[in-house]
Amino acid sequence: MAEQTAIVPDSRTMPRIAPKTLKPNLIGLSRDQLRDALLAAGAPDKQMKMRVSQLWGWLYQKGVSDADLMTNLSKDFRVFLAENFRIARPEIVTRQVSVDGTRKYLLRIDGGHEVEAVYIPEEDRGTLCISSQVGCTLTCTFCHTGTQKLVRNLTAGEIVGQILVCRDDLGEWESAGKDAADKRLLSNIVLMGMGEPLYNTDNVRDAMKIAMDNEGLSLSRRRITLSTSGVVPEIIRAGEEIGCMLAISFHATTDEVRDKLVPINKKWNIEKLLEACRNYPKLSNSERITFEYVMLKDVNDTDADARRLVKLISGIPAKINLIPFNPWPDAPYERSDWDRIEEFAEIVNRAGYASPVRTPRGQDIMAACGQLKSATERAKKSRAQIEAEAGAA
Ligand code: SAH
Ligand code: SF4
Repeated sequence: MAEQTAIVPDSRTMPRIAPKTLKPNLIGLSRDQLRDALLAAGAPDKQMKMRVSQLWGWLYQKGVSDADLMTNLSKDFRVFLAENFRIARPEIVTRQVSVDGTRKYLLRIDGGHEVEAVYIPEEDRGTLCISSQVGCTLTCTFCHTGTQKLVRNLTAGEIVGQILVCRDDLGEWESAGKDAADKRLLSNIVLMGMGEPLYNTDNVRDAMKIAMDNEGLSLSRRRITLSTSGVVPEIIRAGEEIGCMLAISFHATTDEVRDKLVPINKKWNIEKLLEACRNYPKLSNSERITFEYVMLKDVNDTDADARRLVKLISGIPAKINLIPFNPWPDAPYERSDWDRIEEFAEIVNRAGYASPVRTPRGQDIMAACGQLKSATERAKKSRAQIEAEAGAA
C-alpha cells in the first residue's frame, strides 16, 4: 500500500492569496542579489562578502531555515535577518510514498498555487524531478499537464526550494559536504515535472546556478538534465548559461505527426530542432543529448519510425529514452504493446544507441511523466471535502 501523509492546514486561516506584505525570501537569490537585498534593508557594507558566503552555507549546505540557528553570525545580524526576511520553501500539502520508494510531493507556493515534485530512488542515484511552471502553455496532446492552463512561472526560489524540501524530507543535510556528492540520496535533478523550462529560462538558470555552486547545493552540472519540448531559440542559451545536460521531447519522426503530438513543432520543426541540438555547447560522446520518445500505440511506434529516428539523429552524440505512454483519465492515446516497444528498441539498439525503456515508477501514486496534473486535482477534491467537513463541524 502506498503511504500518504496529508498535511492539511486549517482552511479558515489558510491564506489563498499571498499577502502583499510578505517579506522577501532569502532562498533563490544569487550572491549579488542577496548582497543588494541585505544592503537595501540597511545592513552595513562591511564584511558583506563574508556574510553572503556564510548565509549561503546555512541556507544551502546546512539547510537551516531559522536565522536564529545561524550561530556564526552575530546576534544583531540574526535579529536583523529575522525582522526583514523570510527563509521560505514551498509548503508540503501532501507527500505520498510508493511501494517502490518513489516519493511524490504536492507543494503549495505563494499565491496558493500548487506544483508537484517526484523523488525517484535508484541503486546508483536518487533523482528529483522538479517543476518549472504551474501548468504549461504548450498543449502536447499526450501530456496531462498540457491540458492545464499556465498559471505562472515559478521563481528561482520556488524552483530551488523543491530541492530543499526533498533534502529536508530525506534528512540528509549533515552529509551534504562538498565531497559527498556521489553518496547523496538526492544526487540528480531532472527538469521534467510540470511546465516548459525554456519558457522560464532565466529563473531556471538562476535556480540551477545555486544547485551547481560549490557553496550552494554542489550538484554537478552533469547531474542536472533539462527537458524541453523544443523551444529552439532558448536551447543554445540554456547550454551557454546553464551548461547542464539536455533532453529533447522528440516523440515523432515526421513533422506531420510531431505537429500533432508536440504542437510547438509547427513553430520550430524537426529540422530546426535538430540543428539547435547539433550546435548545443559541450556536446560530446561523454555529454550526450537524450532524445525522449513516448511510445504511443499505432501513432509513432512502427519499425519505419524507429529507422527514421536513428537516421534523423545520426551524427549527434545521443541517447534514446523510450517512455511507455503513461495513461491518464480520458487520454486520447494508448500505450504501445510491450513486444512492439521491444522490437522498436531492438532497431534502435542495432543502430548503436543504448535505448533503455523507462520503467514507469511510482505507478500506485500516479507519479510518472505526464501524469502530474491528475493527482493535483484529486488532492484538491479531497481537500475540498475536508474543508466542507470542517465547515459543517
Ligand atoms: N515540458 C518539458 C518537460 C516536462 S515533460 C518537456 O516537454 O520536455 C517530461 C517528459 O515526459 C517529456 O519528455 C514529456 O514529453 C513526457 N511525457 C509527458 N506526458 C507523458 C505521458 N503521458 N506518458 C509518458 N511520457 C510523457
Ligand atoms: Fe508542457 Fe512538456 Fe507536457 Fe508538452 S510535454 S504540455 S511542453 S509539460
